[in-house]
Amino acid sequence: MTDHNGLILNELSKTFGDNQALNGIDLDVAPGEVVAVTGPSGAGKSTLCKCIAGLERPDSGSVFLGGREIAGDLPGGRGVAFLFESYALYPHKTVFENAASPLRVPGRSSSLSGAELADRIGRELDKLAIGHLADRLPSELSGGQKQRAALARALVQDNAAITMLDEPISHLDAKLRHRLRGEIKRELMARDAPAIWVTPDGLEALSVGDRVAVLIGGKIAQFGTPREIWENPASVEVARLIGDPPMNLLSARLQDRDGTVTAELDDGMHLILPPDSVERLVAASGKQSLQDGAVTIGVKPRDIRIIRLEDVGVMTSEVVSLEPFGKHSLVTLSLGKSFVRVKARDDMGVRPGERVGLRFTGPVTFFKAKTGSRIVTGWEEQGGETERRAVPAL
Ligand code: ADP
Ligand code: MG
Repeated sequence: MTDHNGLILNELSKTFGDNQALNGIDLDVAPGEVVAVTGPSGAGKSTLCKCIAGLERPDSGSVFLGGREIAGDLPGGRGVAFLFESYALYPHKTVFENAASPLRVPGRSSSLSGAELADRIGRELDKLAIGHLADRLPSELSGGQKQRAALARALVQDNAAITMLDEPISHLDAKLRHRLRGEIKRELMARDAPAIWVTPDGLEALSVGDRVAVLIGGKIAQFGTPREIWENPASVEVARLIGDPPMNLLSARLQDRDGTVTAELDDGMHLILPPDSVERLVAASGKQSLQDGAVTIGVKPRDIRIIRLEDVGVMTSEVVSLEPFGKHSLVTLSLGKSFVRVKARDDMGVRPGERVGLRFTGPVTFFKAKTGSRIVTGWEEQGGETERRAVPAL
């Protein structure tokens, strides 16, 4: 069992009426670690934070923080710095006073003098590019400015037992989001306390989390390093949440024809699979079990190449649409009755309607069709570090 002085959740469950928002959550965040919690809307992300903060009462399970069970502690006594998804700013207080409010709790003597406090708040507001709005009321702010005021209030609590940020940058423009992602991450990492960063954006989670917990339907679908989640999604559901665009997922039936494993799409179209991926699949599950096996085949958009139709060993497809993004083009193609999206460094100037060849150039991941859980991935048994590719920079 995990044993450290950070946050440890054991079998945490919470229902609202007959709606199970959290279902047996095991999670730990080490001191100084940032765990990103990602998942679709309604997955239970906010409920998880509220249970830790003491604002919702779990039905069962335990919450350890700083080496002890905190179930009996009132929210105010838990030392939690929490950015609410809804901001929850005091409407009658200025941005400065909102940010300063946790440092001015009656009865808890702040060790900061007035000038030190002003300096601390000022620095945080400046970092979040809202220093010039310090005297405004929340009603005088845009959505993104309100979000940053609430973020400042969470971040000034340097001595919190845990910092939890529920979708801290979701309402900012892309440029600011990009900058603050790094700055906030650094600020959290510099602390001794654990931190939780909630985001529905799978790539943001990979970028800010030391580890990433994927929460789906109130359950942890996968908990691992960004690299593990990127390379080895545990299920089709996880794969769908990660990547922009996410992994292509094709329903296929495996067949063993005279010793060669092939995959056929629903419409009879044959896929040409990378031999090493097939070898790993056979090694993992045995050939016999693959006979007529219904699988979902996952291929990352960057692991498909568009090539000339006359090349050997290609699959025939037709270009549906093309989105040029400078460094790469995103090309949507039909493959039988299915569609795939390709992140092409060289789109060869193809046009919609054109017939082209496709080849899978990277590892293919196999999932069980029925359950969606991963059977084997192209990555696992692959040799040394040099063969592994980095999680994409954002
Ligand atoms: P997320 O933050 O991942 O979007 P939430 O934790 O807000 O998800 O919600 C998880 C589930 O619990 C949802 O189905 C939501 O409708 C339900 N839920 C959350 N809070 C309440 C509440 N106070 N009363 C009833 N249902 C709730
Ligand atoms: Mg939420």
